Amino acid sequence: MSQLIQKYNIPGPRYTSYPTVPYWNQDTFSADEWKSTLIKSFDESNGKEGISLYIHLPYCESLCTFCGCHKRITKRHDVELPYIDSVLREWELYCGLLGSRPIIKEMHLGGGTPTFFSPGNLKRLVNGILEHALKAPGYEFSFEGHPNNTTKEHLQALYDVGFRRVSYGVQDYNGKVQKAIHRLQSFEDVRNVTEAAREIGYDSIGHDLIFGLPHQTLEHVEESILKTKSLRPDRLAFYSYAHVPWIKGNGQRGFKEGDLPSAKAKRSQYEEGKKLLTKVGYEEIGMDHFALKSDSLQQSMVSGKLHRNFMGYTASKTQVMIGLGVSSISDSWYSFAQNVKNLEEYRHLVNNGVIPVYRGHILTREDRVIRKHILNLMCRFKTSWKTNETYFPEIPMVKGRLLEMEQDGLVEFGIDELVVTAEGQPFIRNICMAFDVLLHRKEPETRLFSMTI
Ligand code: SF4
Repeated sequence: MSQLIQKYNIPGPRYTSYPTVPYWNQDTFSADEWKSTLIKSFDESNGKEGISLYIHLPYCESLCTFCGCHKRITKRHDVELPYIDSVLREWELYCGLLGSRPIIKEMHLGGGTPTFFSPGNLKRLVNGILEHALKAPGYEFSFEGHPNNTTKEHLQALYDVGFRRVSYGVQDYNGKVQKAIHRLQSFEDVRNVTEAAREIGYDSIGHDLIFGLPHQTLEHVEESILKTKSLRPDRLAFYSYAHVPWIKGNGQRGFKEGDLPSAKAKRSQYEEGKKLLTKVGYEEIGMDHFALKSDSLQQSMVSGKLHRNFMGYTASKTQVMIGLGVSSISDSWYSFAQNVKNLEEYRHLVNNGVIPVYRGHILTREDRVIRKHILNLMCRFKTSWKTNETYFPEIPMVKGRLLEMEQDGLVEFGIDELVVTAEGQPFIRNICMAFDVLLHRKEPETRLFSMTI
């Protein structure tokens, strides 16, 4: 295994979208084209499956040095209300564009720190969204809670407006690791917020754990997993720390390169962590995720409905996902669009009636076919090109690129299909890269991506 890791641990995309952001057609993107593809997709799908909403709430009180999110650090809470009113204004602009009432299947509050905002302001936000929309049957509303500032009032306020899922960023329980990443939080705090959510009636509680952090050892990972087990969250994200300081700037420079575990140590943190999680009843879902059998993510994997988008893995697919808030990305299946990243510019644009997208990509037929293959691989560990809709002319080249991985036992070919073996699952990003024709047509700027393993 360690030889394979050495061989395949290269910079590569995480494939929350295809084409990946560096390959979007920045120069030819037009907001009008984005809007017309969105309307077309909305008309096709809103009545059938509803839409998803992602709302980005960018403020945090303190900076965690491992953070790759788009955020602004402040202790001033007078920023809350103007920001929420801008998001609601942006939502009104979309509702005006779409014509009929959106039916919301999924809503996710991410950040930043959604629980930076007061319970009253979060309620104002969600009620304002629902004023113009309907809830789909079986809707799923979820939010990211910070263990240090999520209160019972936050949990109750969001429960009252339909939220049943919360995920807490735990990362690692060890004090030295927490100090290095500037994220001090006790096991008691995590236990309190986990139990509070359960008592109120949340039916899916998630914890995020990270491996490969500065000073982190195998023992730390095991200890964090055992502590996690005692709280029995329904789902877990267990993912590799992406060290990309050349993209994310000084936030990631709070420790030295030498404080990070080697690629080999990182991989054994993952392998041992996975073994332990499986032993205590969690099942692996796609890449980096685990869930109990009772959780909707696990059930959707079994029923073949698992989907992946900018929010990560989701239990159901909607063709349209609208991202509200600064830096949010929207996906209409035919196109992607991203909002401006500067807070003041974002507020200025929406308050002047402009949908604040600044870059994006209109997908070609080839993009959509390859996107489906990558989704199949990421969500089901297999894909096939038996039909005209799934075939594309570069399939022979893709197969050629996968031959070495076949010899290494990572994939198996059937007739016009590909299956990822159990050994190949940790290399799923490398396998997806074989399908990524854009990456092969144009040499990437390698420093754009984190390491694949
Ligand atoms: S990890 Fe979360 S809380 Fe920490 S700076 Fe990033 S967005 Fe804020």
